Amino acid sequence: MKKGFVFGLSVIIGLCLIMSCGQSGDQAGGKGKTTFITIGTGGITGVYYPTGGAIARIVNKKKDQYGIRCTVESTGGSVFNVNAIMAGDLQFGVVQSDRQYQAINGMAEWKDKGKQEDLRAVFSIHPESITLVVAVDAGINSIQDLRGKRVNIGNPGSGQRQNSIDALEAVGINYKTDITAESVKASEAPSLLQDGRMDAFFYTVGHPSGAIKEATAGARKVRFASITGIDALLAKYPYYAKAFVPVNLYPGAENTSNVDTFGVKATFVTSANVPEDVVYAVTKEVFDNFDDFKKLHPAYAVLTKKGMLEGLSAPIHPGAMKYYKEAGLK
Ligand code: GLU
Repeated sequence: MKKGFVFGLSVIIGLCLIMSCGQSGDQAGGKGKTTFITIGTGGITGVYYPTGGAIARIVNKKKDQYGIRCTVESTGGSVFNVNAIMAGDLQFGVVQSDRQYQAINGMAEWKDKGKQEDLRAVFSIHPESITLVVAVDAGINSIQDLRGKRVNIGNPGSGQRQNSIDALEAVGINYKTDITAESVKASEAPSLLQDGRMDAFFYTVGHPSGAIKEATAGARKVRFASITGIDALLAKYPYYAKAFVPVNLYPGAENTSNVDTFGVKATFVTSANVPEDVVYAVTKEVFDNFDDFKKLHPAYAVLTKKGMLEGLSAPIHPGAMKYYKEAGLK
């Protein structure tokens, strides 16, 4: 028992040593040295998690050249990722474009903490739409019908939480008093909807996503509800634009035509404290292998190299900028 404990403890200490030496800022390309980097994503049934996986796969192929070992972590989403990157716990993360804007400008969740001045943009990725998934038997056709319903607005730490609140407020619904607001992770919402414990949920996500496939594949009939009547919201915030949910990707949903809503973009961010050669290597590998990268998820079908430099509001990290200049993209 005691021996086992001592052994266990030494394994833990050993692991800590290995991990801390990886985080100690070893430069990429150093002979024999490995730089460990971790990408923060979202729930495993979202699109961020496979996105982190796609980037890691491409970067890890060149492990011998750069000495970089990239891993992926499932997290609570955009806001969690920004905060973990700023704390130095993660080196990269996938973050909604609106959340990037708010963090760098000290808004929303960062209102009290202030501007996240060390946040750096790397590139943008797929479009995400604010998706409202509802049970058909709940009688909800559009966001206006959510009054009195049990609705998941998203976990604290997620990107979608503020999008849900903004959309509800834009149509005059107070999320604290007019609905029963739930704060569970998007990965848990589909089963709660199927079990009848929830009428609807919001998820800001690229399409197709595993979570929404799961929500639309059960016995309880499910559809997408439109989010309209939000022109003032779109005019007020530069990071929101009109978008739609492509319903053909979800044959289980009852909709027959695309559903109007608004959207943002997924972006890839880092910290000013992450070394230039590491960010350069990650950027170069994604862009040099653009055609292969695009094939890794159907949500990337619309990507262009030029488009991946749009929708960024934090300063571009110098390592990424070095590549963009070399490649003639900037
Ligand atoms: N947009 C969500 C968030 O920022 C995550 C979506 C996903 O994981 O694909 O929390």
